[in-house]
Amino acid sequence: MRAVVHSRIMAKEQEVASAERRAAEGGIASDESAVAEPEIEANEGPAEEYENEPNESAAANGGSGEAGCPIVMGEFGDVRCGRKLHLAPDRVDEKPVCLMHSRDPGKQSGPLFDAFWQEFERILVEAGEGVAHFERFIFPEIHFRDREFQAICRFDFATFTQDIHFNFAIFKQDASFIKSTFAQEANFLDAIFTQGTRFSLAIFTQKAIFRRATFIGDSSFIRATFLQKAHFSCATFKQYADFSNATFTQKADFQSASFTWNALFGEATFEQHAYFREATFTQNADFSEAMFTQDAEFNGAIFTQNADFRQATFAEGAVFRSVSFMQRADFRRATFAQSAYFNNAIFTLAVRFLETKFHGTASWRGSRFFDRAEFRRTYFDPQIAGHESAEFALAAFYKPSEIVFDDVNLSRVLFHNCDVSQVWFTPSVQWAKRDGNRGLAVFEERVLLDEEFTKQLWRYGPLDYRAVAQIYQQLKKNYDSRLDYWTANEFHFGEMEMKRLAGPTSGRLLCLRRWWHRNLSFVAWYKYASDYGNSYRKPLLWLLGTLLAAALLFPITGLEFKQAISASTARVTYSCVWNRQDSWTNNFWTEAKLIGKSGITAVDTATFQRTPEYTPVYPRGRVVAIVETLLTSSLFALFLLAIRRQFRR
Ligand SMILES: [Zn+2]
Repeated sequence: MRAVVHSRIMAKEQEVASAERRAAEGGIASDESAVAEPEIEANEGPAEEYENEPNESAAANGGSGEAGCPIVMGEFGDVRCGRKLHLAPDRVDEKPVCLMHSRDPGKQSGPLFDAFWQEFERILVEAGEGVAHFERFIFPEIHFRDREFQAICRFDFATFTQDIHFNFAIFKQDASFIKSTFAQEANFLDAIFTQGTRFSLAIFTQKAIFRRATFIGDSSFIRATFLQKAHFSCATFKQYADFSNATFTQKADFQSASFTWNALFGEATFEQHAYFREATFTQNADFSEAMFTQDAEFNGAIFTQNADFRQATFAEGAVFRSVSFMQRADFRRATFAQSAYFNNAIFTLAVRFLETKFHGTASWRGSRFFDRAEFRRTYFDPQIAGHESAEFALAAFYKPSEIVFDDVNLSRVLFHNCDVSQVWFTPSVQWAKRDGNRGLAVFEERVLLDEEFTKQLWRYGPLDYRAVAQIYQQLKKNYDSRLDYWTANEFHFGEMEMKRLAGPTSGRLLCLRRWWHRNLSFVAWYKYASDYGNSYRKPLLWLLGTLLAAALLFPITGLEFKQAISASTARVTYSCVWNRQDSWTNNFWTEAKLIGKSGITAVDTATFQRTPEYTPVYPRGRVVAIVETLLTSSLFALFLLAIRRQFRR
């Protein structure tokens, strides 16, 4: 990336030559500059200019020295036009200038038109393969279709008042249109620029057509302004293409454009649709700090080298569908104000989404990550409440351990049909919490269960309980393998919950069977008893509850005193120990003692004591005892399992 920046700076330095820079810094822009500037330049160094006076071009033109056209020309603004002054109608020109530099509307046709082109051709012929100076010329309509220019053509600061046609034209050497103004349509369709091309600071007031144009040398559109559509579709840039700081007020069409060398769009502004569909970037592509006010479309584009979108702003949708990023892709601190689509994109090398902000839904559905992907402090916050924030459905991670989610809110991220079992989720990752402090949840579950989403479930692709259970299994496996059993357990609940809800899907009495599965099946009981093994308090409470229930039930059916002397005293129940003659308090205590004895019996039964003092009376008491034994032993087992689950190493 450094190379890109450096080269951009280099290009800029070469580009904005001193004369032009002075003009730019002087804050003069637009059409008037052509006439207004010479004054400034004259102020800066009039003496020098006059010293240089008897120069070739002025002399050759038969110019009358100091009396001739005062417009400054030449690469460094050191040559004066000096052509014969043209008698223009009043106030057309601010001060008398030659025909070439005059704004006289009479130039558009007739003898003046002919005279203009005569002089133009003369300059070209005279230049041969040298420099042809057309700086600050005011051009009438141009028809140069199929024309071949042998000379180095300098159209800097020129104004093209009418349509210009350079379609199929060939510039054999440098062509320079620095700070020129195209008042009407500029047509460079199929033009070939053999050497360097400079359109920096140019203003295209109407359509700019560069379709299928070929730029064999460096091309520069630095700070160019396109006020209408800019057509660069199928254009070929063989060397540096520099559009840094360019402004596209209307649609910018770079469909299928091919950038063989670095493509620089840093800080460019796209106020309407930016269209880079199927563009090819063979070297580095720099879109850092670019501003996309409307949709940005890069469908099917290929970035063979690094793609730099650092701090770029996408105010509307950003579409990177099926884009191939063959080297690093950097979206650090970029902002996506609306949805971002990376569906089916291919990331061959590292991709960074550091501190990238997504205010819409970001979708990586079906995209493939062959190397590292960093989602650090990535900000997922869809503005539509309840919408998913990001989607990785069907995405494939070929080096899963190199996929990092760090300090990211994943509470509304979809991961179904995407293997996340080895992806690295740092502890700072935030998952959605389950109601009732029962662990963590993934967004798919909500999509599946929430009525708000079920209406448009199709939108999320194949999604059922099994698919969601799978995500939970993978997350569990993921955290288990990192020995984070705690978090793993939190996903265990979700997994089992999905299993409980899944149930039968076909057959007779479906409703009933499904209800049974959800509420009375073994899995359901597992949930009631211990939150699927996540809670050890729950089975413990149930265990105590069972003991208490047994203790209260035994005296109803009767307790048998083993060491009893007679049969009459052997059996005790609530009713037989109640003495009507005695006071309420005494009776109460007698009953309490009975329950106490019964409690001991319940514990005896639960712990398989062989010689208990009391035993439940056959047959009903025995049944209660058997049920109690079964329940307590299973609950105790569940308790042990839960303990193990919580405190395993
Ligand atoms: Zn002149």
